[in-house]
Amino acid sequence: MANVKLENIVKDYEDGYRAVKNINLDIKDKEFIVLVGPSGCGKSTTLRMIAGLESPSSGEIKIEDDVVNDMSPKDRDIAMVFQSYALYPHMTVRENISFPLKMRKVSKDKIRSKVSNIAGVLQLEELLDKKPAQLSGGQRQRVALGRAMVRKPKVFLLDEPLSNLDAKLRVEMRSEIVNLHKKLNTTFIYVTHDQTEAMTMGNRIAVLNKGVLEQFDTPLNLYYKPNNKFVAEFIGTPKMNIFETEFNENDDKLFIKLFGKILPIPSELKDKFSSLEMGQSYYVGIRSEDFFIDEDSKIDLLFSNVEYMGSDIYAYAESDESSDRIIMRFDAEENIDKNMRTRVGIDFKKLFVFRKDSEKTIIFPTR
Ligand code: ADP
Repeated sequence: MANVKLENIVKDYEDGYRAVKNINLDIKDKEFIVLVGPSGCGKSTTLRMIAGLESPSSGEIKIEDDVVNDMSPKDRDIAMVFQSYALYPHMTVRENISFPLKMRKVSKDKIRSKVSNIAGVLQLEELLDKKPAQLSGGQRQRVALGRAMVRKPKVFLLDEPLSNLDAKLRVEMRSEIVNLHKKLNTTFIYVTHDQTEAMTMGNRIAVLNKGVLEQFDTPLNLYYKPNNKFVAEFIGTPKMNIFETEFNENDDKLFIKLFGKILPIPSELKDKFSSLEMGQSYYVGIRSEDFFIDEDSKIDLLFSNVEYMGSDIYAYAESDESSDRIIMRFDAEENIDKNMRTRVGIDFKKLFVFRKDSEKTIIFPTR
């Protein structure tokens, strides 16, 4: 059990590349936090610094308020699970799980009871005498988790542990890992590039982009209150629609330019947009679920492609008047087909507005 703090962490690799740019993270005891971001954003580097496999160029890493910068990985009392399971192929499951305890000269009785306890938690009892080659990917990953758990580390570090599994198993293992976290009651730090994995697993999520921490927040806040356009686009599937636009006022009414049309914004929402400068360029963001079919709308779109997802339909659309590509999500009951033309309305309460220069969010959706 431990809190983990990263204070002004910078990592310059030997070739001079700055992979992590002044990151601050305050991870509470027993939290499940996820580091997420596109490939190359510095997630693994950050995790490896917490593990002690890389040292920061500047800044401090604290575990339980002790500075661990100069402490070797084995003294940090952490366990790490990697993408590749790295099990010992010649050892049985039981021997693989026991290995860290054997290395620490724990008594045979104690090892036996610990392994049986862990095998129970991870449902590995029937597999204890098998070798890794006889196991499925999911089972191997569970053994790797078991081996990491056996020492009761203060902190669990997991680096894309599910990325080698097929899609179905990945979804199953997500909830297994979340349950494991509940049972172990230990701090978990989990790295993934997959925002769905992050959103479904983390108590809080740190979104990284090019070595910068863009936001460290709850899944709900990342979705509804993203700090900036990067977070807004990174979180959520399908990706948020972003359009460059301007707002104008005429006759005390507010208008927005979208898809080559000048659209009125409902008068009750005018105050919400009062901080905007008329005629200035902004980005607006509209999530795929904030469109609706509306015969009276001025927005006339052609559905160039339609994907049936079961309970939802993803519709990709274009307008004649602009080059914008739009993705919308509708209920499966809607009557939507490829190559169909439809009038579509926008729920303006749900609009995000970002500054054009800094890309910071200045208007958030009303829920
Ligand atoms: P992520 O885990 O988010 O995909 P990494 O932390 O692995 O990203 O890498 C961050 C950046 O640092 C990448 O651009 C990567 O190429 C670079 N990098 C990683 N390891 C080294 C290294 N040993 N030397 C130089 N650059 C590295």
